[in-house]
Amino acid sequence: MALTAIIGATLLLTGYVWGGTAVWLWAALAYFLISRYASQTAAAVQQGFVTGEQLLQAQKLAALGELAAGLAHEINNPLAIIRQEAEYAQFVLKKSTIGDSPELLEVRDSLREIITQVDRSREITQNLLNFARKREPVLQQVEINRLIEDMVRLVEKEARNKNIHLQRHYDPDLPVVTSDPPLLRQVILNLLNNASYAIGADGEITVATRTLPNREILITVADTGPGIAPEVLPKIFDPFFTTKPQGKGTGLGLAICHGIIQKLGGRISSTSEPGRGATFAVTLPLSAQSQEQPA
Ligand code: ADP
Repeated sequence: MALTAIIGATLLLTGYVWGGTAVWLWAALAYFLISRYASQTAAAVQQGFVTGEQLLQAQKLAALGELAAGLAHEINNPLAIIRQEAEYAQFVLKKSTIGDSPELLEVRDSLREIITQVDRSREITQNLLNFARKREPVLQQVEINRLIEDMVRLVEKEARNKNIHLQRHYDPDLPVVTSDPPLLRQVILNLLNNASYAIGADGEITVATRTLPNREILITVADTGPGIAPEVLPKIFDPFFTTKPQGKGTGLGLAICHGIIQKLGGRISSTSEPGRGATFAVTLPLSAQSQEQPA
C-alpha cells in the first residue's frame, strides 16, 4: 500500500508540475486504477485463491486495457477532425483554378500523406479498443475450413505478388464447431498477416486443420520465415511486444489473439526453430459453450 501511495503521489505531483488539466486527469486516473488493482490483488492473494504473480499479471493487463481504451477513445476524436480537414483541403484544391505548380503538387502529396498517417493512427487506436473491449463471444455453428479459406483468399493475392505461396491441408472430415466466427476470422487473419510479414518475400505459408481425439480441433499456420529467437518466443503474446520497426507494429495482434482464443475455450501457442520458420497452433473445443458456464 505504501508503494501505491508513493506512486500515486508521484503521478499526481507530475500532473501538477506539468500543468495541463488533461495530464493531471490522466495521472489521477492512473493512480486510481493502480491503487484499486493493488488492493484487490492483496486481498485475493491473502485469501489464497491465486498466486500473486498470476493475479498481478491479470490485474496489470486489466489496468493497462482500461487506460489504453480511455486514451484511444480520446485520441479518436481529434484524429477524425484532422482527417476531415485534410479531405476538405483536398476538395478545395481540386476545385481551385491555380493549376498544377510543383508547390501545389507537393501540398497534394502532403495532404495524402496526412490522411494515410491518420488512417494508420486510427488502426492503432482501434486495435487498442479491441484489446480492451470485453465482448462476449456470440456463438454459432462454424465450418472452420471454409472460414479459414475465406481469410486465406483475402491475403493470397497480395502474398502472390511477393512470391509467397499458400498451401492448404484441410481435414475434409473436420466437424462443425460452435464458436464465434468474427473473432476467429480476426485470429486467422492476424496469424496469416504475421506469417506473410515474417517471410517478406519468396516463401510458403501452410495452413492445416485436424481433428483431435479429445473433442477438439487443431488449426496450424506455419511459415518459412526467419523464425522466432528463443529469447523472443516467451514474449510474443505479451501486449505491446513487437520486434517490428517503429510505425510498423503495435505488438497487440497476438495479445488480442490470445485473449480471443482463451475466451473461446481454446489455446494458442507457437513453436519455432530460428532460421526454419514459425508455427502457430490454435486448439478449439468443438463447442465453446461449456467454457461460458460459471466455473
Ligand atoms: P506486431 O505484429 O504488431 O509486432 P504481434 O503481437 O502480432 O504484434 O506480434 C508480436 C511479435 O511476434 C512480432 O513483432 C514478431 O516478433 C513475432 N512474430 C509474430 N508472428 C511471427 C512469425 N510468423 N514469424 C516470426 N515472428 C513472429
